[in-house]
Amino acid sequence: MHLQSHAKWFLNTLLPTLCKLCQQHSDTDHALCSFCKDSLVRQSPACPRCGEYLPPSVNQVCPYCTPGFFDFDTCHAPWEYSDGLRYLVHRWKFVKTTHLTSALADLLLEGCVTTSDVDALVPMPLHWRRTWQRGYNQCTLLATHVAQRLNLPVKHVLACKVYQAPQHKAHGRQARQLSVKHFDCQHNLKGLRLALIDDVITTGQTAHRAAQCLKQAGADYVSVWCIAKTPKPGAPCASTALDSYSLQ
Ligand SMILES: [Zn+2]
Ligand SMILES: [Zn+2]
Repeated sequence: MHLQSHAKWFLNTLLPTLCKLCQQHSDTDHALCSFCKDSLVRQSPACPRCGEYLPPSVNQVCPYCTPGFFDFDTCHAPWEYSDGLRYLVHRWKFVKTTHLTSALADLLLEGCVTTSDVDALVPMPLHWRRTWQRGYNQCTLLATHVAQRLNLPVKHVLACKVYQAPQHKAHGRQARQLSVKHFDCQHNLKGLRLALIDDVITTGQTAHRAAQCLKQAGADYVSVWCIAKTPKPGAPCASTALDSYSLQ
């Protein structure tokens, strides 16, 4: 056995790795044990433009977006936002468990296959008052981890101008009413290809407004990279597709 393997075995015996989700001894070197990792639902196949899960029968033509519907060009959301992942993200955002960032960055990166397409990462901003209340902007933490893994710069070029109360997430009509002035960018981004780093994408309207602002500042291309996508209410989602397979 190699010396490094001895050291690893010794450390694992003394300090066994605990799975970040079930808190049991993990059988992997990653943040999640293989059982918990397997329980996450892959958002695949998905529309490359909006990230929505597409049942194979849809034939890759997305019924939820058309060219120009969103100002971002592509969206990578590799996981469905449900159960285990929802629990992890909630702890990370609302219980100050920032050590989960690395595990969540790994999950996000499992979906980003076009990393050479972008020049820099832009974290989705929080209003300064929200950042102050929470103590951190989780998207900045996420962007920093992803940037280190991919050796890309992080650009803090976007500001959020509108304060929303904690735990409030705009849905439906409210989300669609997000004003053009929701975000502000005082930088020249001419010709840049950017990845907008968000945690979870829901209706896509917040990312749409942020991408709109980046493009008005000159960005050529904006891709949204996030950990997960909330399934559209009433639409087929990856987890129900899995259930129907297991019933057959
Ligand atoms: Zn586990
Ligand atoms: Zn779509």
